Amino acid sequence: QTTHFGYENVAVEDKATRVAEVFHSVANKYDIMNDLMSGGVHRLWKRYTINAAGVKKGDKVLDLAGGTGDLAAKFTRIVGPEGKVVLSDINPSMLEQGRERLTNMGIAGNIEYVEANAEELPFEDNSFDLVTMAFGLRNVTDKDKALRSIFRTIKPGGKLMVLEFSKPVVPGLNTVYDHYSFKVLPVVGKIVANDADSYRYLAESIRMHPDQETLKGMIEEAGFEKVSYHNMTGGIVALHTGYKF
Ligand code: SAM
Repeated sequence: QTTHFGYENVAVEDKATRVAEVFHSVANKYDIMNDLMSGGVHRLWKRYTINAAGVKKGDKVLDLAGGTGDLAAKFTRIVGPEGKVVLSDINPSMLEQGRERLTNMGIAGNIEYVEANAEELPFEDNSFDLVTMAFGLRNVTDKDKALRSIFRTIKPGGKLMVLEFSKPVVPGLNTVYDHYSFKVLPVVGKIVANDADSYRYLAESIRMHPDQETLKGMIEEAGFEKVSYHNMTGGIVALHTGYKF
């Protein structure tokens, strides 16, 4: 079934181009839209992720598909001057928003900005103690390739954390959530960002993303061990963690 947005066709033809257009288009409204759409709850999901990350002084962290750098900013404070955080994104407009924002926050010295596709990371093997990917994986065309590429760049003993929309596990929540994402989101997107289509894409990409167990299997398939997940807000979002040994 093809939607108004034509996402099904796009998925087959050139999802990457569509994703690039979407994030270029929303870049300068991204932060305010995040707060509006989630009622600020994305901050709690991210705070949980940061607390669960167990990052230490001196660690090297890659925040992949990092966008405007919510996670990266926090990690720079924790790793300190001996550590390093790489904020990476495929989209130059999003990365520029991130660079500007973090620079304005006074973050410098232990941060690098790298434009990169998660499917073909330009980093050496065994580089990072932690790789985070928040709300990024569902936008990637070849997720298995990306997970393998991430695995390669993680140090032995290091870990991957994927924060992503998932499948609601509370009865009835699915229906409410579907209504919200397909009816409310595009309207808010239209009003605030004058861009209903991008937010329609968002809703569709969430619906098509693998559920908790499927994603767990994909992460294991890429080589990660001790893979587990933690549902938040009734499974609207899940945090998957896996280790490279
Ligand atoms: N991590 C940030 C956050 O949680 O606020 C930004 C998430 S934003 C919804 C998704 C990001 O994924 C966008 O900045 C987009 O450019 C990026 N992205 C999409 N496909 C990508 C890919 N193949 N490789 C790296 N980043 C990608």
